[in-house]
Amino acid sequence: MQKVYKRNERGSLIVISGPSGSGKDTIVNELVKNNDNIWVSVSCTSRAPRKGDKEGETYFFLSREEFEEKIKNNELLEYAEYNGNYYGTPKEHIEEHIKNGKDVILVIEVQGALKVKELIPWSIGIFIVPPTMTELRRRLSTRGTETKEKVLERFKTAYKEINRVTDYNYVVTNDEVDEAVKKINAILLAEKCSVDRIEDVYLNNEEEEIHALLMDNVNFSSADDDIKIN
Ligand code: 5GP
Repeated sequence: MQKVYKRNERGSLIVISGPSGSGKDTIVNELVKNNDNIWVSVSCTSRAPRKGDKEGETYFFLSREEFEEKIKNNELLEYAEYNGNYYGTPKEHIEEHIKNGKDVILVIEVQGALKVKELIPWSIGIFIVPPTMTELRRRLSTRGTETKEKVLERFKTAYKEINRVTDYNYVVTNDEVDEAVKKINAILLAEKCSVDRIEDVYLNNEEEEIHALLMDNVNFSSADDDIKIN
């Protein structure tokens, strides 16, 4: 049976940003747990590993020189300097996953996200925000792992970053993680239904189809007589 249209079945490229304390990493972890069609890119960074970081899982940890070598060799889709360290997305594997229909997620900061949007206009930017700035302040202060100065610095950066929200396609408030995950799944689904994916419309046999419909309706014409709208 002929389908009505042919759509591009490639995976989506989802770019997720949000200030420190917005909970974007928790959301992405939850998202992946129940969706095996998602592949999350592992970035390179020149920052030192923190407690709990795992090489090749949280990041590929590189020296500044090694990172600069990757820039020179054009191995990165985008990169940015953030808090004095390099962060970048390796190009390798992204195209292959998208071609195979996997949804690829990049969790990156604002400058990098804008570069990806410029390079790949069909990518989808999602910005995660805390419900209120008071809540963000509370989340940052109760982490207990950082000095007051560091908390203040993160809070200031958050203000700047949130100002860029309209450069993204969607904004998701992280009040409850489950709700935020539901919203992102809905965005992924909507993206699959986007008319931008239509490559061809097959409506070639209009006359034949109409004829077939008319023939079918001959049998129902008396039943239809019952339904009269005056
Ligand atoms: P952290 O040092 O806390 O792990 O990350 C600092 C910031 O860098 C976060 O906003 C994180 O999303 C962002 N980041 C992580 N990987 C990349 C990347 O590949 N490119 C860019 N531009 N930012 C990244």
